[in-house]
Amino acid sequence: MALNIPKNKTPIAEQKPEVRNHNFKEVVLGYTLEEAITEANRCLQCPTHPCVAGCPVNIDIPGFILALRNNDLSESIKILKSYNNLPAVCGRVCPQESQCEGKCTVGLMKDHEPVAIGKLERFVADWAASHEGVEEPQKKNEGDKGKIAVIGAGPSGLTVAADLAKKGYKVTIFEALHAPGGVLMYGIPEFRLPKTIVEREVKAIEELGVNVETDVVVGKTITIEEIRKEYDAIYIGTGAGTPRFMNIPGTNLNGVYSASEFLTRINLMHAYEFPKYDTPIRIGKRVVVVGAGNVAMDASRSALRLGAEKSMIVYRRSEKEMPARIEEYHHAVEEGIEFHWLTNPIEYIGDENGNVKAVKCVKMELGEPDASGRRRPVPIEGSEFVIEADMVIEAIGQTSNKVLLSAFPELKLNKRGYIEADPETGATSVEGVYAGGDIVTGAATVILAMGAGKKSAKAIDEYITSKKKA
Ligand SMILES: Cc1cc2nc3c(=O)[nH]c(=O)nc-3n(C[C@H](O)[C@H](O)[C@H](O)COP(=O)(O)OP(=O)(O)OC[C@H]3O[C@@H](n4cnc5c(N)ncnc54)[C@H](O)[C@@H]3O)c2cc1C
Ligand code: SF4
Repeated sequence: MALNIPKNKTPIAEQKPEVRNHNFKEVVLGYTLEEAITEANRCLQCPTHPCVAGCPVNIDIPGFILALRNNDLSESIKILKSYNNLPAVCGRVCPQESQCEGKCTVGLMKDHEPVAIGKLERFVADWAASHEGVEEPQKKNEGDKGKIAVIGAGPSGLTVAADLAKKGYKVTIFEALHAPGGVLMYGIPEFRLPKTIVEREVKAIEELGVNVETDVVVGKTITIEEIRKEYDAIYIGTGAGTPRFMNIPGTNLNGVYSASEFLTRINLMHAYEFPKYDTPIRIGKRVVVVGAGNVAMDASRSALRLGAEKSMIVYRRSEKEMPARIEEYHHAVEEGIEFHWLTNPIEYIGDENGNVKAVKCVKMELGEPDASGRRRPVPIEGSEFVIEADMVIEAIGQTSNKVLLSAFPELKLNKRGYIEADPETGATSVEGVYAGGDIVTGAATVILAMGAGKKSAKAIDEYITSKKKA
């Protein structure tokens, strides 16, 4: 059987690059039922299923694929949802190449691509949501096992909340912004992750009985002491939303943005639909984005869609070290993003009105590997050159959200300024307080934040159960 399976993944419909780089509609259109079953048939149903170990929440991958293959979509979504509360999100944004698909037996066979696990997960979630009766209504518990406060409604907070609600707790999520979802709402653009899908999956979590209170900044609107008095346990999932800056001359020129501001205006505030929505956005003709992670890809592709004539990515390492998802990189190349590898900005040059007009860069070469295992970029003396640009977006990484941390001094932080938490349980230095996601690991991935939420839900349940017995 193995030798007969098609070498390549079943092709999936996508908007054409020259059309999609002018709109914010989703790029990947998804499988039809027939295509999904064809792809499901590429799965070998390996008894050792290495793909499962590659998934941070250990979804029963062969199980949901087998149910799909048998055209039993109800069973397929039931399996998925028992491991993952946000399958339509994960199917779209997980870096599957380094997780489940990276371990798939088919992908390890000569000249074969792995099973398209992410695309199948997304298909099942979307199919179930758009066909009434496919998914069994979720059971709402009494919520009488205890009261839990979750701070932050990103993927980590949403996961811990859903799992604890399923276990019978009354859960309230406090979220600083006006919409739940964290980066899923304010960071990742519509063309990769439509906001209706995030809203749909958040609504399903609310239907489990989870109460989401938006516009509440814990540490300001409400104190941590007030929460501690009222709740049996707390989970902190406040993420890493504070941008880092290059801090080079010219940073304060008009037209220099952090990717966080740029993407929040576009995604959360709908600036791409200005003036229908009243938040504006300024777009240059020649845009330079600094960095080559998912954030940089999202910013450069958004600038193109908003009318930039040239959108360029400047990255101090080479293509090989780029941290972005492979699929998004390919999409960016197809859409016409220009890449300047081994290049680092050293100054933003302004005009007489204080607007950025060019970026002075230096060429880099790769030296010995650094602590991250990637080869360290070293500037090449005398290689300075200038790229004309009337807009610059810095996407060089984020660090921990600080408001809560400064309002909660008993909480032990690690050397990098993130919360110190047990990797197995999320327990922090304060009894009854748990933490997970980017606020513990630093900027990572959606599924790792969810995995942390899952582990903490289990640990919080055990903590409260043992406390009640004592
Ligand atoms: C532009 C962008 C693109 C990305 N693309 C991908 C991708 O393709 N695939 C992938 O796997 N990962 C991607 N990531 C990373 C991923 O989104 C994060 O790792 C993930 O969202 C972390 O989840 P979290 O729940 O820990 O935090 P977040 O998603 O950051 O959520 C934290 C929430 O807490 C709230 N909050 C903060 N402080 C307070 C407070 N004091 N009181 C109340 N609420 C508070 C915030 O408003 C926010 O809603 C991307 C990140 C960005 C920025
Ligand atoms: S490793 Fe690949 S082929 Fe094997 S069960 Fe998982 S998805 Fe199927």
